[in-house]
Amino acid sequence: RPVIGVLALQGDVREHLAALAEQGAEAVPVRRAAELSAVDGIVLPGGESTTIVKLAVRSGLLDLLRAAVRAGLPAYGSCAGMILLADRILDAPPDQETVGGLDVTVRRNAFGRQVDSFESEVELGLEGGPLHAVFIRAPWVEEAGEGVEVLGRVVGGAADGRIVAVRQGNLVATSFHPELTGDRRVHALFVEVVRRHLAEQAGAEAGNERG
Ligand code: GLN
Repeated sequence: RPVIGVLALQGDVREHLAALAEQGAEAVPVRRAAELSAVDGIVLPGGESTTIVKLAVRSGLLDLLRAAVRAGLPAYGSCAGMILLADRILDAPPDQETVGGLDVTVRRNAFGRQVDSFESEVELGLEGGPLHAVFIRAPWVEEAGEGVEVLGRVVGGAADGRIVAVRQGNLVATSFHPELTGDRRVHALFVEVVRRHLAEQAGAEAGNERG
Protein backbone atom coordinates (compact mmCIF):
# COMPACT_ATOMS: atom_id res chain seq x y z
CA ARG A 1 0.00 0.00 0.00
CA PRO A 2 1.35 3.42 -0.89
CA VAL A 3 1.90 5.71 2.08
CA ILE A 4 0.41 9.11 1.35
CA GLY A 5 0.89 12.06 3.67
CA VAL A 6 -1.38 15.03 4.18
CA LEU A 7 0.39 18.23 5.19
CA ALA A 8 -1.25 18.83 8.56
CA LEU A 9 -0.29 22.37 9.50
CA GLN A 10 -3.72 23.90 8.87
CA GLY A 11 -6.79 23.18 6.78
CA ASP A 12 -9.10 20.25 6.05
CA VAL A 13 -6.65 17.45 6.82
CA ARG A 14 -9.04 14.82 8.19
CA GLU A 15 -11.26 14.73 5.10
CA HIS A 16 -8.25 14.08 2.86
CA LEU A 17 -6.95 11.33 5.14
CA ALA A 18 -10.35 9.62 4.95
CA ALA A 19 -10.63 10.02 1.15
CA LEU A 20 -7.12 8.59 0.61
CA ALA A 21 -7.76 5.64 2.92
CA GLU A 22 -10.96 4.91 0.97
CA GLN A 23 -8.82 4.65 -2.16
CA GLY A 24 -6.51 2.07 -0.61
CA ALA A 25 -3.64 4.27 0.57
CA GLU A 26 -2.14 4.34 4.03
CA ALA A 27 -2.88 7.95 4.88
CA VAL A 28 -0.78 9.77 7.48
CA PRO A 29 -0.63 13.37 8.73
CA VAL A 30 2.68 15.17 8.10
CA ARG A 31 3.84 17.87 10.52
CA ARG A 32 7.58 17.18 10.77
CA ALA A 33 10.52 16.56 8.48
CA ALA A 34 10.88 12.91 9.51
CA GLU A 35 7.23 12.31 8.65
CA LEU A 36 7.66 13.90 5.22
CA SER A 37 10.62 11.70 4.36
CA ALA A 38 8.54 8.58 5.08
CA VAL A 39 5.79 9.18 2.49
CA ASP A 40 5.42 8.08 -1.14
CA GLY A 41 3.22 11.07 -1.99
CA ILE A 42 1.88 14.20 -0.31
CA VAL A 43 -1.42 16.07 -0.31
CA LEU A 44 -1.39 19.82 0.29
CA PRO A 45 -4.90 20.55 1.58
CA GLY A 46 -7.12 23.60 1.39
CA GLY A 47 -6.92 26.20 4.12
CA GLU A 48 -5.22 29.56 3.94
CA SER A 49 -2.10 29.46 1.78
CA THR A 50 -0.47 32.44 3.53
CA THR A 51 -0.87 30.69 6.90
CA ILE A 52 0.22 27.28 5.62
CA VAL A 53 3.37 28.79 4.07
CA LYS A 54 4.25 30.63 7.28
CA LEU A 55 3.87 27.48 9.35
CA ALA A 56 5.79 25.43 6.79
CA VAL A 57 8.68 27.90 6.82
CA ARG A 58 8.74 27.87 10.63
CA SER A 59 8.80 24.07 10.81
CA GLY A 60 11.45 23.80 8.10
CA LEU A 61 9.04 21.87 5.89
CA LEU A 62 8.84 24.35 3.00
CA ASP A 63 12.41 23.82 1.77
CA LEU A 64 12.06 20.07 2.21
CA LEU A 65 8.77 20.02 0.30
CA ARG A 66 10.33 22.05 -2.49
CA ALA A 67 13.27 19.66 -2.75
CA ALA A 68 11.05 16.57 -2.55
CA VAL A 69 8.72 17.80 -5.30
CA ARG A 70 11.71 18.75 -7.49
CA ALA A 71 13.03 15.22 -6.96
CA GLY A 72 9.75 13.76 -8.23
CA LEU A 73 7.64 13.17 -5.11
CA PRO A 74 4.01 13.00 -6.28
CA ALA A 75 1.94 15.84 -4.85
CA TYR A 76 -1.71 16.80 -5.01
CA GLY A 77 -2.76 20.32 -4.05
CA SER A 78 -6.37 21.33 -3.44
CA CYS A 79 -7.34 25.01 -3.31
CA ALA A 80 -4.65 26.56 -1.03
CA GLY A 81 -2.58 23.50 -1.99
CA MET A 82 -2.93 24.43 -5.66
CA ILE A 83 -1.54 27.88 -4.80
CA LEU A 84 1.40 26.22 -3.03
CA LEU A 85 2.26 24.05 -6.04
CA ALA A 86 2.05 26.90 -8.57
CA ASP A 87 5.22 28.40 -10.01
CA ARG A 88 3.51 31.82 -10.27
CA ILE A 89 0.80 33.40 -8.08
CA LEU A 90 -1.37 36.47 -8.71
CA ASP A 91 -3.19 38.48 -6.01
CA ALA A 92 -0.96 37.10 -3.26
CA PRO A 93 1.17 39.06 -0.79
CA PRO A 94 4.36 40.00 -2.70
CA ASP A 95 6.56 37.90 -0.43
CA GLN A 96 4.40 34.76 -0.47
CA GLU A 97 6.66 31.79 -1.07
CA THR A 98 5.55 28.63 -2.81
CA VAL A 99 6.63 25.03 -3.13
CA GLY A 100 6.29 25.36 -6.89
CA GLY A 101 6.86 22.73 -9.54
CA LEU A 102 3.64 23.20 -11.47
CA ASP A 103 4.12 25.39 -14.55
CA VAL A 104 0.97 27.46 -14.04
CA THR A 105 -0.06 30.96 -13.05
CA VAL A 106 -2.71 30.76 -10.35
CA ARG A 107 -4.92 33.65 -9.24
CA ARG A 108 -5.88 33.60 -5.56
CA ASN A 109 -9.51 34.23 -4.58
CA ALA A 110 -10.19 34.38 -8.30
CA PHE A 111 -13.94 33.88 -8.18
CA GLY A 112 -14.31 37.17 -6.29
CA ARG A 113 -13.55 37.91 -2.68
CA GLN A 114 -17.21 38.42 -1.90
CA VAL A 115 -18.00 34.90 -3.07
CA ASP A 116 -17.16 32.81 -0.03
CA SER A 117 -18.15 29.49 -1.41
CA PHE A 118 -20.26 28.07 -4.20
CA GLU A 119 -20.87 24.87 -6.08
CA SER A 120 -20.61 24.28 -9.80
CA GLU A 121 -20.34 21.55 -12.37
CA VAL A 122 -16.87 20.88 -13.69
CA GLU A 123 -16.14 19.23 -17.02
CA LEU A 124 -13.58 16.63 -15.98
CA GLY A 125 -11.06 14.86 -18.20
CA LEU A 126 -11.57 11.63 -16.24
CA GLU A 127 -14.04 8.85 -16.87
CA GLY A 128 -17.47 9.28 -15.35
CA GLY A 129 -18.74 12.60 -16.69
CA PRO A 130 -18.88 16.01 -15.05
CA LEU A 131 -18.00 16.47 -11.40
CA HIS A 132 -20.01 18.44 -8.87
CA ALA A 133 -17.44 20.70 -7.25
CA VAL A 134 -17.32 22.77 -4.07
CA PHE A 135 -15.26 25.99 -4.26
CA ILE A 136 -14.26 27.95 -1.13
CA ARG A 137 -12.52 31.30 -1.78
CA ALA A 138 -10.89 29.35 -4.55
CA PRO A 139 -8.10 30.15 -6.97
CA TRP A 140 -8.20 29.30 -10.66
CA VAL A 141 -5.46 28.60 -13.18
CA GLU A 142 -5.06 31.74 -15.22
CA GLU A 143 -2.37 30.30 -17.50
CA ALA A 144 -1.03 26.80 -17.94
CA GLY A 145 2.33 25.98 -19.52
CA GLU A 146 2.71 23.63 -22.48
CA GLY A 147 3.51 20.57 -20.42
CA VAL A 148 0.42 20.97 -18.25
CA GLU A 149 -2.62 18.80 -18.92
CA VAL A 150 -5.92 20.59 -18.28
CA LEU A 151 -8.14 18.12 -16.42
CA GLY A 152 -11.10 20.28 -15.53
CA ARG A 153 -12.96 23.45 -16.46
CA VAL A 154 -15.97 25.18 -14.93
CA VAL A 155 -19.20 24.69 -16.84
CA GLY A 156 -21.64 27.60 -16.83
CA GLY A 157 -21.92 30.79 -14.80
CA ALA A 158 -19.58 33.77 -14.80
CA ALA A 159 -16.49 31.56 -14.57
CA ASP A 160 -17.48 29.35 -17.51
CA GLY A 161 -14.43 27.70 -19.06
CA ARG A 162 -12.00 28.59 -16.28
CA ILE A 163 -9.33 25.97 -15.62
CA VAL A 164 -9.82 24.39 -12.18
CA ALA A 165 -7.99 21.04 -12.41
CA VAL A 166 -4.56 20.28 -13.88
CA ARG A 167 -1.90 17.62 -13.97
CA GLN A 168 1.77 17.82 -14.86
CA GLY A 169 3.62 14.54 -14.43
CA ASN A 170 3.44 13.59 -10.76
CA LEU A 171 1.70 16.82 -9.77
CA VAL A 172 -2.07 17.19 -9.60
CA ALA A 173 -3.98 20.29 -8.51
CA THR A 174 -7.63 21.31 -8.18
CA SER A 175 -9.25 24.63 -7.26
CA PHE A 176 -12.10 22.74 -5.65
CA HIS A 177 -12.41 20.40 -2.67
CA PRO A 178 -13.16 16.82 -3.76
CA GLU A 179 -12.56 15.67 -0.18
CA LEU A 180 -15.84 17.39 0.78
CA THR A 181 -18.02 15.52 -1.71
CA GLY A 182 -18.50 11.81 -2.32
CA ASP A 183 -16.82 11.90 -5.74
CA ARG A 184 -13.47 10.17 -5.24
CA ARG A 185 -12.11 10.35 -8.81
CA VAL A 186 -9.45 12.96 -8.08
CA HIS A 187 -8.14 11.06 -5.03
CA ALA A 188 -8.25 7.82 -7.04
CA LEU A 189 -6.21 9.49 -9.79
CA PHE A 190 -3.64 10.72 -7.28
CA VAL A 191 -3.29 7.33 -5.58
CA GLU A 192 -2.73 5.87 -9.06
CA VAL A 193 -0.03 8.49 -9.80
CA VAL A 194 1.72 7.50 -6.55
CA ARG A 195 1.43 3.76 -7.30
CA ARG A 196 2.91 4.26 -10.76
CA HIS A 197 5.75 6.36 -9.38
CA LEU A 198 6.54 3.62 -6.84
CA ALA A 199 6.50 0.97 -9.57
CA GLU A 200 8.84 3.06 -11.73
CA GLN A 201 11.23 3.54 -8.82
CA ALA A 202 11.23 -0.19 -8.10
CA GLY A 203 11.91 -0.86 -11.78
CA ALA A 204 14.80 1.63 -11.83
CA GLU A 205 16.33 0.06 -8.71
CA ALA A 206 16.08 -3.44 -10.15
CA GLY A 207 17.73 -2.10 -13.31
CA ASN A 208 20.58 -0.58 -11.30
CA GLU A 209 21.16 -3.85 -9.46
CA ARG A 210 21.30 -5.80 -12.70
CA GLY A 211 23.48 -3.20 -14.46
N1 GLN B 1 -8.17 31.65 -0.42
C1 GLN B 1 -7.32 30.66 0.18
C2 GLN B 1 -5.85 30.98 -0.06
O1 GLN B 1 -5.54 31.91 -0.71
C3 GLN B 1 -7.62 29.28 -0.34
C4 GLN B 1 -8.97 28.84 0.13
C5 GLN B 1 -9.07 27.36 0.35
O2 GLN B 1 -8.10 26.63 0.37
N2 GLN B 1 -10.26 26.91 0.60
O3 GLN B 1 -5.02 30.25 0.42
